Amino acid sequence: MSAVLRIESVSRAFGGVYAVRDVSLTVAEGETRAVIGPNGAGKSTLFNLISGHLVPDAGTVSYGPRGQWRRIDGLPPHARARLGIAIVFQGARLFGGMTALENVMVGAHARTRHGFLAGALRLPGQRREEAEIRADALAALERVGLREWAHRAADVLPLGQQRSLQVARALCARPRLLLLDEPASGLRAAEREALAQLIEGLREEGLTTMLIEHDVAFVARLADRVSVLDLGAHIAEGTPEEIRADEAVLTAYLGE
Ligand code: ADP
Ligand code: MG
Repeated sequence: MSAVLRIESVSRAFGGVYAVRDVSLTVAEGETRAVIGPNGAGKSTLFNLISGHLVPDAGTVSYGPRGQWRRIDGLPPHARARLGIAIVFQGARLFGGMTALENVMVGAHARTRHGFLAGALRLPGQRREEAEIRADALAALERVGLREWAHRAADVLPLGQQRSLQVARALCARPRLLLLDEPASGLRAAEREALAQLIEGLREEGLTTMLIEHDVAFVARLADRVSVLDLGAHIAEGTPEEIRADEAVLTAYLGE
């Protein structure tokens, strides 16, 4: 399988302490990759290094959908978003006072020429684009099963549906690489199940997804491969079965 993301010897420190240290990994096009590790392992930092919200101190991040490789570690987040990298941050909040549809439309503006502000201000020549974005946003809501919630206030939706809405917002930017930072945290069993089915559906459509998650069963169900971080280092990678049997992983989680 061809790769879509290649991270080589990436490091990032905060105040002299490494959050991510000399991490190398490759993600195949179309796979679902879980990233696991204890709290503070550097998982969110790694995702931010991919999305551009953090810049590495050393190492390279290369992105190559359909074999078109380029270095992206020098690009700002909006440029990476335009290339098809979407992130749902850990604990991401929705815009209160906006409907579900409006929240998704904010995501769609990431890939337009004019950006969200121009769209929000309805500058001349924006109308047609606005209509396209609205149609895309409705389609994204449909895709995550939230079409009927389009005109409800987003921040009063149940937590599971708020997470689906975050995914819809990311999908509206038409990503080729979707980064989900702990999308299942705090969800009830039925909500986790709905989210798992949503992620499985995206995989069937061929979308490459990276997913930070603590629940072993959730990871085993969804992930093709698992990367394990501990204290900023990439200590193991393999199938969920391989990772469950890995001594270094057990040590990282249980301590010594
Ligand atoms: P994880 O997502 O695996 O829980 P993080 O990537 O959030 O871990 O954090 C890794 C380490 O980097 C932690 O020790 C954390 O305190 C530190 N860290 C992360 N972001 C920052 C930041 N913006 N400023 C200072 N320290 C940070
Ligand atoms: Mg985190």
